[in-house]
Amino acid sequence: MNTFDSALSQLKKASEYADVDPSVIKLLSVPRRQIEVSLPLKRNDGSLEIFKGFRVQYNNWLGPFKGGLRYHPKVDIDEVKALSFWMVIKNAVVNVPFGGGKGGIEVDPKRLSKKELEELTRIFTQRLFPNIGPLGDVPAPDVNTNPQIMGWIVEEYSKIFKELDMDPKTEGNPTAVVTGKPLDKDGSEGREEATGLGGFYIFEQLVKKLNLSRKSTIAIQGFGNVGSHLARLLYENDYKVVALSDSKGGIFDTKGEGFNINLVRECKLEKGLVSDCYCIGSVCDIAEDNERISNEQLLELPVDILIPAALEGVITAENADKIKAKVVFEMANGPTTFEADEVLDKKGITVVPDVLANSGGVTVSYFEWFQNMHNEAWQIEKVREELKKLMVDAFDNVWQISQDKKINMRTSAYVLALQRLAAKSFL
Ligand code: NAD
Repeated sequence: MNTFDSALSQLKKASEYADVDPSVIKLLSVPRRQIEVSLPLKRNDGSLEIFKGFRVQYNNWLGPFKGGLRYHPKVDIDEVKALSFWMVIKNAVVNVPFGGGKGGIEVDPKRLSKKELEELTRIFTQRLFPNIGPLGDVPAPDVNTNPQIMGWIVEEYSKIFKELDMDPKTEGNPTAVVTGKPLDKDGSEGREEATGLGGFYIFEQLVKKLNLSRKSTIAIQGFGNVGSHLARLLYENDYKVVALSDSKGGIFDTKGEGFNINLVRECKLEKGLVSDCYCIGSVCDIAEDNERISNEQLLELPVDILIPAALEGVITAENADKIKAKVVFEMANGPTTFEADEVLDKKGITVVPDVLANSGGVTVSYFEWFQNMHNEAWQIEKVREELKKLMVDAFDNVWQISQDKKINMRTSAYVLALQRLAAKSFL
């Protein structure tokens, strides 16, 4: 089953509990618009390379299409469709006035120089110009994209906006075309940490409901924006993160005491790889006794909580049975396939779904967009306070449905989203 089929299977399953018009489900089974563009880039060596770019605008019943842009060699239309569909559900779960979209470029950004990356981003913006905008479709960062890339998009978009003499009063403030921008380009305080912090607020709610102890051991796959901020927050709040990884593998603290995440961050910055931040048999600042592990091993470790925070489709029908954690807390989008989800469910593993756990990013993206549209600049305290409110509300709503209907949290989150979407559907 491909990623999009897996996403649709989740929708179908939830539709059995949601009590909404079947036409709503039918309409949500197909994206409204798929855009594919070719991006010719003159490389530094003078050669011409053509990249493929995508944007899928899945659904906009609740507001402008909204979702990240991913730069990765494995980006394809199937993946982008699935990711944009999950954005529809996520935005409805967390109750922000956005629809769902997603996009990306099939590229390994590590192969490009900074200048080439900037040029490619600007060409992508030019190609997408007719289809994006503050009131229509608002991209954001995702895997391998960051505030600097968002800054280039806003510059390029604003330039064309001005050239075409467009009016901010009717088209919206052009800086609101993307979120996750640098602070000096109308970004919001707190956006960079938002997905990790939102996840942490959800995590705290779960700890209360399941009576989890601070001694619980945690493994996190992925140490990028999402994984590293959440790991830091867990560490600062005395939780024990005993395993961590990036794309090249990871480390496991065999004594179960937990890593000093600040030291891991420093080490990763210095050495480039999480898996180089280890030492065995000697005194080590990061953890006393740790060993190198692969990403596959990380998923199957004897830990209490497993947090996939890298890419989709890592927990599959093949390895689901070997998962030993009692909780899977999905910070990545779509880390568990539909088949694997059924296995985890049967094993009694609590899965906190992506559309709830990682919704903090889009929530602060909404705050950023709102500030741009209303010419406001919120303090970090206000951002965190508002984020916490929405996270706690979303968790409580999902939890309540799961208790009332005796269904798992993923299906409950979809039920909540479907009810909100059905109420605003353009039927
Ligand atoms: P990122 O590019 O900052 O980091 C990705 C991390 O995953 C890196 O540590 C990378 O080394 C690791 N990785 C890549 N391939 C891997 C592999 N095959 N196995 C193990 N690790 C691998 O990206 P991010 O923004 O942290 O996004 C991570 C996940 O969170 C994605 O699924 C993304 O869609 C999701 N997400 C991101 C945001 C956001 O605001 N950035 C919001 C919601 C969800």
